[in-house]
Amino acid sequence: MKTRSEVFCLMGCCLGAAVVTASVNAAQFEELTEYFRQANVVAGPELVECTLSGGSRTSCFRITVTPSPATYTPGPWCPDTIADSAENGGIWLENGEVHDVSGAFIEDMANFYSDNDWQLFDEDTGAVFVTDTLEKCAGAAQPEVDPEFRQQCVECQMAYLDEDATVTYTIPLEPVAVEQPLDTRDVGSGLAFNGIRLDAPAPVADILGNYTLAPFDDCGGHVNLHVGYHYHAATDCLDDTASKTEHGSVVGVAMDGYLIHARLLNDGSLPADLDQCGGHETDELSYHYHAGEQGSNAILSCLKAEYGCVSEEPGVECDASVSRRPGGGGDGRPDFAAAAQRLGVSEDELMRALGAPPPDFDQAAGTLGVTVDALQEAMGRP
Ligand SMILES: [Zn+2]
Ligand SMILES: [Zn+2]
Repeated sequence: MKTRSEVFCLMGCCLGAAVVTASVNAAQFEELTEYFRQANVVAGPELVECTLSGGSRTSCFRITVTPSPATYTPGPWCPDTIADSAENGGIWLENGEVHDVSGAFIEDMANFYSDNDWQLFDEDTGAVFVTDTLEKCAGAAQPEVDPEFRQQCVECQMAYLDEDATVTYTIPLEPVAVEQPLDTRDVGSGLAFNGIRLDAPAPVADILGNYTLAPFDDCGGHVNLHVGYHYHAATDCLDDTASKTEHGSVVGVAMDGYLIHARLLNDGSLPADLDQCGGHETDELSYHYHAGEQGSNAILSCLKAEYGCVSEEPGVECDASVSRRPGGGGDGRPDFAAAAQRLGVSEDELMRALGAPPPDFDQAAGTLGVTVDALQEAMGRP
């Protein structure tokens, strides 16, 4: 697909292309700014220069938000006891189905996953084993879980997050299409119009492999200490924050700059001609995605264009071509071993210097005797 400015170029007005691009960007910028009015905005939106994942230099929309929704309180996730009803717990997504995480669901895990090793509750009291401290939630929410943190219903409370934590999104105003669709795990799917991250699929194999369950609340979100509250499903919680189009309401913008619409069209039907990333173009609307089914654990299956940046450090220029993975991985964690090797220190030294999340880079760099830039680069942060 040609970008609008390329089309204008072919029409023989190359000199005017820069002006046309600027006005297209300005219109797009206004549209996005209007959408994000319900987000907890800390800085921006502003128009900045940026470098996308494929190396394209372009104009981006940059916005800094707090990773907490303005319109509701997240949770609940884990029920307290196996007698609790569905109201006391969130949801779990499995095989395209949405399951209520009630006490009975927790009690039935061994049956549900046909594995008798599941034991998420105290057989004598019926109390559910919940990660009810910061230490436990940090310990259990990792790909490699210490045995002491196995057999837990994992939830991290909003209160564990640094009050000043912000997330900065830098998203192209005019998408630059790629030939091979890109994996959303590199940077996430996008940003919902309430300022909450639309994440890549949750790493369900890691979670279940450790005999942990990390439920989502009824809005499809849960808390990760690195990126705060984020979504793994686009639910009707996002309907009222967005605008209606003939193709359902717009729920957010993807990291590649295309808009993400609700799963279904206004008449309740499913768009018929979606590509492998869940997107299409219609006579009325330019290319856009429709969010994946709630139970699919994939808001987007892939990205069709070069993506921008997600950063926990505000004000840093986006160069998405430099690093893959760490900056984006919602539930993943940076590759500390590789970072330590790059810095010439042991992983232990690095972990101690970084301290409890969120990491204090200035202090850690001082402790390790390296520059903040070197540390951030080693950690693969844009
Ligand atoms: Zn559509
Ligand atoms: Zn997650």
